Amino acid sequence: EEQNKWKKVDDYFTDRLNLTDSQLDEVLKNNADSGLPPIDVSRTQAKMLQLLIKLQGARRVLEFGTLGGYSSIAMAEGLPEDGHVVSLEASEKHADVARSNIQKAGLSHKITVRVGSALETLPTLSSEPPFDFIFIDADKKNNPAYVEWSLKLGKPGACLVVDNVVRGGEVLDDQSSDENIQGIRKMFDYIHDHPKIDATAIQTVGSKEYDGFLLAIIK
Ligand code: SAM
Repeated sequence: EEQNKWKKVDDYFTDRLNLTDSQLDEVLKNNADSGLPPIDVSRTQAKMLQLLIKLQGARRVLEFGTLGGYSSIAMAEGLPEDGHVVSLEASEKHADVARSNIQKAGLSHKITVRVGSALETLPTLSSEPPFDFIFIDADKKNNPAYVEWSLKLGKPGACLVVDNVVRGGEVLDDQSSDENIQGIRKMFDYIHDHPKIDATAIQTVGSKEYDGFLLAIIK
């Protein structure tokens, strides 16, 4: 009942704010047809990422977790013509679907998908120019390592967004046997002691139910 209301409010926002985007709808359809799980960010969240990228004046975006490229495409659309998204994806199948979606969206020149476990592909990025916007949305168990890498690969002043930090409130369970929950908690512990991360976390409800995100600036 409540969840149905959250979804309806998301639909209302999507309608009134003209967020319907046939290209992004097409991505969700291709993902479903290819058997990908529907764990992309919502339409309103994708728009928030795009707006943050514009506010930041970002040119180089790093994403952890491509899936079918829904968020990669939304973020690339917020970048100037010479901007670029590098998105890290462990699954060859997900990366193939994403590349096909990215090509259909006419954004192949703006998005590079790197296949492989992020912890293996990240070191190759050290020789590239630094990033000014980073979105972490992959395997949550590695979030502490991903935040640590973000400090290495992000410029001072870079914006960091980490998705799914609430998980229906499971983040509170310090005894959780779920390594993803433990990963989220360890990430908060890491940030707690870190002088170079200026952060907040916001709880959300919507079509993706009760969850939330962390928003930070790398000092
Ligand atoms: N950001 C995407 C969006 O909103 O459209 C959703 C990403 S989905 C929640 C998480 C993705 O991370 C999955 O495609 C999964 O295969 C990928 N993934 C899981 N473990 C990974 C790893 N170690 N390195 C890179 N990607 C990983």
